[in-house]
Amino acid sequence: MDLVKGKGASAGIAVGPILVKPAEQKTAEKRTALSPQQELERFYTAQQDVVALLETLKEKALAEAGEEAAAIFDVHQLMVQDPDLTEQIAGLITGDSLLPAEEAVQQAGESFAAMLESMDDAYMQARGTDVRDICGQLEQALRQHQGNWWDQLTRPSIICAEDLTPSETLQLNKENVLGFVTSGGSGNSHTAILARTMKIPAIVNTGLPLSATWNGKLGALDGETGSFYLEPDQDTLLQLKEKESRIRAQQDALEIYRGRATVTAQGRQIALYGNIGQPEDIDAVLANDGEGVGLFRSEFLYLGRDQYPTEEELFQAYAAAARSLKGRKLIIRTLDIGADKKVDYFHLPEEENPALGFRAIRICLKRPEIFYTQLRAILRASAFGNMGIMFPMITSVEEVRAAKELLEATRIKLQQEGIPYNSEMEVGIMVETPAAALISDDLAQEVDFFSIGTNDLLQYTLAVDRQNATLEEIANPGHKAILRLIQLTIQNGHKYGCWVGICGESAADPDLIPYFLSMGVDELSMSPGKILPSRKLISTLPG
Ligand code: PEP
Ligand code: MG
Repeated sequence: MDLVKGKGASAGIAVGPILVKPAEQKTAEKRTALSPQQELERFYTAQQDVVALLETLKEKALAEAGEEAAAIFDVHQLMVQDPDLTEQIAGLITGDSLLPAEEAVQQAGESFAAMLESMDDAYMQARGTDVRDICGQLEQALRQHQGNWWDQLTRPSIICAEDLTPSETLQLNKENVLGFVTSGGSGNSHTAILARTMKIPAIVNTGLPLSATWNGKLGALDGETGSFYLEPDQDTLLQLKEKESRIRAQQDALEIYRGRATVTAQGRQIALYGNIGQPEDIDAVLANDGEGVGLFRSEFLYLGRDQYPTEEELFQAYAAAARSLKGRKLIIRTLDIGADKKVDYFHLPEEENPALGFRAIRICLKRPEIFYTQLRAILRASAFGNMGIMFPMITSVEEVRAAKELLEATRIKLQQEGIPYNSEMEVGIMVETPAAALISDDLAQEVDFFSIGTNDLLQYTLAVDRQNATLEEIANPGHKAILRLIQLTIQNGHKYGCWVGICGESAADPDLIPYFLSMGVDELSMSPGKILPSRKLISTLPG
């Protein structure tokens, strides 16, 4: 057994077979093979594609060049399905070589062509070129069916990776993800946040080089202590099982807090909400008795796809979320794309410092057509529930005014079209830059509420890249500078009639909640699994 220590990013125990995310491919051609069965299926699919393509070419040739030309494609169709060639390719995929389909096609094609070219018969010699031709077509067809590494996630597994992007994480079949272990990554990255939201045990920053030989081996992880065990022994498995039972017992003990309001020892009520990335995450908020959703990271609806979602798609997602909350609050944060949340079809510029670059509200104001579509969808959905909207990454009053102007223009358009929306929908901003906190007196006069994003506030105040795992030691969320900015924001918000919440990861930090309560915070929004423990804690605290 090997024990590796990383940073616990999402609590919980996981035990199961390991799936290693292949290292980044440097060249397009050299792929790592999926399972032999999957590679074989890729080959057969490509073979059918080429047969179909050759049929189209044959018909074209017949119409444009006559029967003799069309006959070439008949021969090619036979060749591409030749039993000997097929057998050779399949053998290279499933035999000792375990080659990816592309390489198997290339190797088998080359030896088949060489064999034909070595014959005495000139006709057979010439067929070598045809074999190379059809194998080239097979390779091309395979490239179009390259698939993703997560296609191998066909059974519940622990995923080991150098790192995972938020869009990869989102596209994994959650049913089959037992846990994550990443060599790099930080606890404040969106991938770690997603793991917590989805209640998937996770460890980051193990510093461990990955090996494809782990594939299929047993792994175990404790997301609280950050311990990862490769091929755990029986004693370790027993201990983890016992710990799992203890965790379950602790969760059961929290059940008495279900269905209760969240109230401090002095009787002040706090709104306790959940954070979500996708409408499906609402199930976890409701299962954990969340009183609403304080942060819907709406950009996740834009990840893991190759074109912009339509207004209708967005509307359906928001309206479904609003409906399933049955009158509880749903705060949609408008697009916060950029930085670590990259989407190819946005064609964003490459930047030296993307966290300080073209992201979030900056993109929305520069590309109003994208923003307008989202605003329409949000406004339309507001007719179906108790919704609020907030703008991310605000640094100035001008940005808030510009965003509100677009929102107003969208309202007017919907009104003209006779489409219903809630004209009372609350409008807020995220306070997640030191600039926004420092001018929160001016900003508070523009909006109905503030939601403090401590993840970015920490990054920008302490100059600590939230993606950089090596800086975690100095990324102290309880730093005096951050607490002062939060206090100032709450004071200014209240002075001008705004309610003030916190939706960054600190909102669920048991060491910080007492400070936030003493500052007068009105709402805390967190990973759904943290709601009941926080309600319990709050009930014991003054404030
Ligand atoms: C934050 O910055 O604290 C926040 C809640 O937003 P995100 O983590 O999505 O940047
Ligand atoms: Mg943020």
